[in-house]
This record gives sequence, C-alpha cells and structure tokens, in this order.
Amino acid sequence: MNTPKRRSWAEPYKIKMVEPVKMTTRKDREKAISEAGYNTFLLRSGDVYIDLLTDSGTSAMSDRQWAGMMLGDEAYAGSRNYYNLEDAVRQFYGYKYLVPTHQGRAAEHLISKIMISDGDVIPGNMYFTTTRLHQELAGGTFADVIIDEAHDPENEHPFKGNVDLQKLEDLIKKHGPDRMPYVSIATAVNMAGGQPISLENLQQVRELTAEYDIPIIHDMTRVAENAYFIKKKEPGYADKSVAAIVRQICDLTDGATMSAKKDALVNIGGFLAVNDREVFEEARNLVVVYEGLHTYGGLAGRDMEAMALGIEESVQEDHIRARIGQVQYLGDKLIGWGIPVVRPIGSHGVFLDARKILPHLSQDQFPAQTLAAELYLDAGVRAMERGVVSAGRNTETGEHNYPDLELVRLTIPRRVYTQAHMDVVAESVAEVFANREKISGLNMIYEPKYLRFFQARFERAD
Ligand SMILES: *Cc1c(COP(=O)(O)O)cnc(C)c1O
Repeated sequence: MNTPKRRSWAEPYKIKMVEPVKMTTRKDREKAISEAGYNTFLLRSGDVYIDLLTDSGTSAMSDRQWAGMMLGDEAYAGSRNYYNLEDAVRQFYGYKYLVPTHQGRAAEHLISKIMISDGDVIPGNMYFTTTRLHQELAGGTFADVIIDEAHDPENEHPFKGNVDLQKLEDLIKKHGPDRMPYVSIATAVNMAGGQPISLENLQQVRELTAEYDIPIIHDMTRVAENAYFIKKKEPGYADKSVAAIVRQICDLTDGATMSAKKDALVNIGGFLAVNDREVFEEARNLVVVYEGLHTYGGLAGRDMEAMALGIEESVQEDHIRARIGQVQYLGDKLIGWGIPVVRPIGSHGVFLDARKILPHLSQDQFPAQTLAAELYLDAGVRAMERGVVSAGRNTETGEHNYPDLELVRLTIPRRVYTQAHMDVVAESVAEVFANREKISGLNMIYEPKYLRFFQARFERAD
C-alpha cells in the first residue's frame, strides 16, 4: 500500500450533541421564500437547511462555556460573572473600564450618545449598518476613509481594511478636529467582506489622530480574526501569538464596542470598553437607562460567564486557524470553479459578487437580494444581501445609496458546520451560477424606515 502524501486536517473539536436540520423540497422552498417576501431575513429557520445568514450569535458554545452557564450568579447587582468578564476584557483586550450591553449596537448607542454632537463627522474604515445609524441618530455624519481597493471586489490587496491616511487627514483639515469626536476603526471590516486592517496602518492612524488629539474607537467585533490575518500576512508577525496581536491592536485604540455574538463565541452579549474615566462614568450612568444596571447591562449572569470564557477561547490558535480555514476552504472551492467572489477571502464568510454573476440586472432590480433568494430556492442554503438594500437611502436626497459592492454573504457560524456542509453549499452556488442567465430581478413592495434590509419585502419583477 502506498501511504498518502496528503495529510488531512480536521476541525479541532468533536460533536457532543446534535441538532437535526430539515431537508425541504423545491416546492416547499418556493412557498417559503414567497411568503418571506424574497427576504431571507423573513424566512423561518425551520425552513432552512444550511443557515449562513450570519455569524452573529449563531456559534456553537464549548462544553466549558455551557458549564460556565451553570455558574451564573443572577444577583441584580455585582454578579461575580461581571467581575470575571471584566478580568477577561482587561487581560485579553487591555481596556480599563467595562460596561456590558446586550449586544454590539447597544454599545454603539451609548458611545454615540456620549461622544457625538450635532454636526460632527465620524470618519471610519467603511460603514457598518448599525454603527452608522447610531452615529446619525446622535446628529453625526459618517465619512468613509477606507482605501479605494476595499471597494473593488477583485483587488487582491492583503489589507483591504486599511485607512487611506490622506483621505483622513484631508477630512480632519476640512472639518477641523473639534468636529471629530473620534475615528471609528473596525477590525476585519464586515462590509468590505471581512477584510483586515494591518498593524502598520493602525499605527499610522494612531500617529495621525494623536497629532490632532482625536481618539480612536475600535469596532472589535472580529478582532481575533483580524489578528490571525496579521499573523499570516503582515511581515514580522508570523511568530507572534494571535492573543498578543489582539492586545497590540487594542492598545493602539482608546475604547471599543463589541458584539460578542461574533468573535467571542456567545449567543448573546456585547460591551463598551474604554480607557477614559469620564467617558466610562457617563456610559455607566446611561446604561442604566437603556440596558440595565452597569454590572449586567441587559444580560443574565450566565451570559457574562459564557462571554468571559468565549473571549479566552476566541484567541486560541487552533480555534482561529480552523475558523478562518473553513471560510477559506469554501472560498477556494468557488474561486476554483470560476465563480466571482470578493478577493482575498475574508474572515467570516464568502461574499459572492452579484453584479458579476447577474450583470443583466441593474442595481434597481436588487441583484444581491435576487441571488440570495435563488440560492435558498436551489438547496435551502440561507445567505444575506449586502448591497443596495443594505446600503439604505441617502438621508438628504432620499435616493438609494448605490454601493460599489453588491454582494451576497455566505456567513459561516463558528464551530457549527462541517467540511461536508461547505461542499453542499459550494455545489449549490455552482448550480445557481450555471443557470444565472435565466434569473430575473425583484421589485421592493415594502420598505421600512430604519435598516430596511431586515424587514423589506419584494416580489418577482416578471
Ligand atoms: C454585528 C456587528 C455590529 C452590531 O452588533 P450586534 O451585536 O448585532 O448589535 C457592529 N459592528 C459590526 C462590525 C458587526 O459585525
């Protein structure tokens, strides 16, 4: 017998409990997607076979985290789990003061209310839906300062989350530093396709903002994933641990909002963490109005315990290698078959380029929304639109924002699916791709006022 040359690799965990998923027929799915107004957010999860809607709150917790849930101290005030969470945030991220919140957007709400005044401008490396909305609701305007490469799905720049320093400096000079409460820096930029920012670039942003005395608020939702890319791609970091790189990133910023439902491997939770005592005191006061007392912030004690443990697990090398490796596996398969996706493959999902796949549809026919619906119809895989629907309308003109990126996001939950699931997904995408010319667009028949992508309804255009 010849021994195989290839040494296989497998997920660094084994299955202890299973959750059966339903297999549906095409007829079932036709009915389900039409009842859902061709919006995958409005499908019932029971009608979904492989759920790649989001990586938010969909991770599988470890046995250790579940054990932690049993150690929940449900005291109204001063729960011991709060202090464990505070220790984890200080140890792994280095921020001094912690205010727990029920999820990321609640932390964005607090920081926006505290720091932004009417007429302020908040530069950031690409917008995120909830982040920008909270900035706007607080009277501010978001200004995109990400490098141009980030808007080009084919550009292979290794750090498409980088800030264009010239754009940032021009903006500071135009509006004046007093109109800039902070610069908003995301790691593993979600809307760009999960693209990392380099440490070199972040250091330069730090130097520039220090000159003008402007703080940096870090959207650290996927900081460990960003750190892994730095280890793999940025010269000088190959031998550093992911945990050390995470600390280095956090140390270059003044505070952070966190959706722990992503990197930190919990089903619910988030926080605001800052180094400034005054900002902390205001946040600790405001959180009582919107979330709950400052030692639970809308969470149960057990949720905070699971989060503290999840933070620790999120920076473990085996975990993060497998996590990004699985996303890469799916992406490489699709690239190998010539299917247009955002390159390089990012942290938390594979982003299909709907403009390229459905060139016969204009953005007014919602190509990404259409593609996501078609994908569901083919095999019951649920994806998400990240294009003109997600981009919303211009607050002044009321016109659609037409983003360059018109994408369908296949988002991979952490530790949930196997390589075989990834094969099924890849084959379904290939099938839809093969029949792409027959696909017609959608009309929007219901449009909610805020974050319309969640609840908008559509019908077939033909
Ligand atoms: C998910 C997410 C948020 C919002 O967090 P929620 O927990 O969903 O409220 C903010 N920023 C980024 C980059 C995210 O991915």
